[in-house]
Amino acid sequence: MINYKELAQKYSTPLYVYDFDYMSAQYEKLKEAFRARKSIMAFAVKSNSNLSVVKHFADLGSGADCVSIGEVRRAFLAGIPKYKIIFSGVGKSDDELREAIEKDILYINLESYAELERVEAIAKELNIAARISVRVNPNIDPKTHPYISTGLHGNKFGVDINTAKRMYIKAKNSENLDPIGIHFHIGSQLTELDPIVEASEIVADLVRSLQTLEIEIKFFDIGGGLGITYNDEVTIEPYEYAQAILSTLTALDITVICEPGRFLTANAGYFITKVLYEKENNEKRFVIVDGAMNDLLRPSLYDAYHKISVVDKESSDVTKADIVGPVCESGDFFAKDYLLPKMEHNDLLVVESAGAYGFTMASNYNTRGRSAEVALVGGEDRLIRRRESFEDLIANELDLMEK
Ligand SMILES: *Cc1c(COP(=O)(O)O)cnc(C)c1O
Repeated sequence: MINYKELAQKYSTPLYVYDFDYMSAQYEKLKEAFRARKSIMAFAVKSNSNLSVVKHFADLGSGADCVSIGEVRRAFLAGIPKYKIIFSGVGKSDDELREAIEKDILYINLESYAELERVEAIAKELNIAARISVRVNPNIDPKTHPYISTGLHGNKFGVDINTAKRMYIKAKNSENLDPIGIHFHIGSQLTELDPIVEASEIVADLVRSLQTLEIEIKFFDIGGGLGITYNDEVTIEPYEYAQAILSTLTALDITVICEPGRFLTANAGYFITKVLYEKENNEKRFVIVDGAMNDLLRPSLYDAYHKISVVDKESSDVTKADIVGPVCESGDFFAKDYLLPKMEHNDLLVVESAGAYGFTMASNYNTRGRSAEVALVGGEDRLIRRRESFEDLIANELDLMEK
């Protein structure tokens, strides 16, 4: 049991707490599921990019899936070996591409023909053959929230099969490109296996047809997206996930790469926030807390559901309330019509499943410093990011009134 009260007293609120042992257990479960093949688990750094978290996964043997050169630098700092680092994303700048090529990471995941040409030109300047993969958009509906669906032609991600083929042929004939991987990622918070298997079949077929062109793909990157339980979702079992993917790869000698984010970190995280006030506007009940959308954006951005629990309080006499923050936006809420007992000043609420896309999406809106982050390792708590001060917030601003 996590002692939220003690943590809140020690580190103040709002506060992010991550159970590192839970992250390890999730990592091992997924890695184990793919044991029948050579595999790399490449942690999706964007889900939780605190250096201590990335280092924790590095220590477990994980690779890293990065979507900016900043994340690539984090992966290096955390000690992830370069041959397990992947760089994805639809809009990489020349500087980012150059640095990734120079750093000699496993491969750059290309998301357009134009990007292939940029990488070729930069690799030529550097007199290098850049290792690449192509992100294929298999045009599959992942049956998840539209904002986190990525594998339909209407989404900005990846390229269609024919463009992918052209890209591989171009890469094969270039001295400065080395096509070694293929990638797809159809969306996040996936709870149905069928769309994943369908996508995997389409991409595996492409690998086979590339073989006939003497293009040998060594890495089959299935992306991330494995769903978790926020409320009562029935999720995909890692073993079944792995078996289903592997069944599409018969007769292919290929290493599987998986890019889990949320699956590893979401349910390891708790966001502790303190009640400031209760109020009622014409029958409508609001519980106002010290955390806000700038700390945890998912409810505002995706209308996402998070379980919220009350610390040390009998929850018998409950009524519906909106749980809202101090930020000046109507969209600043953690839950609507949530059943809560009468709350007092300084009571604590815990927003669960907050370990993924929580702190990493935080901002300084309303000149609010970002929360502290604490790791729980074997029952011990350790500060892994200090709370931002006002001085931190203004540090980069130039004083126009000075001269
Ligand atoms: C976001 C993302 C992931 C991780 O998604 P999760 O839902 O957190 O598992 C993996 N790969 C790519 C390319 C992504 O964009």
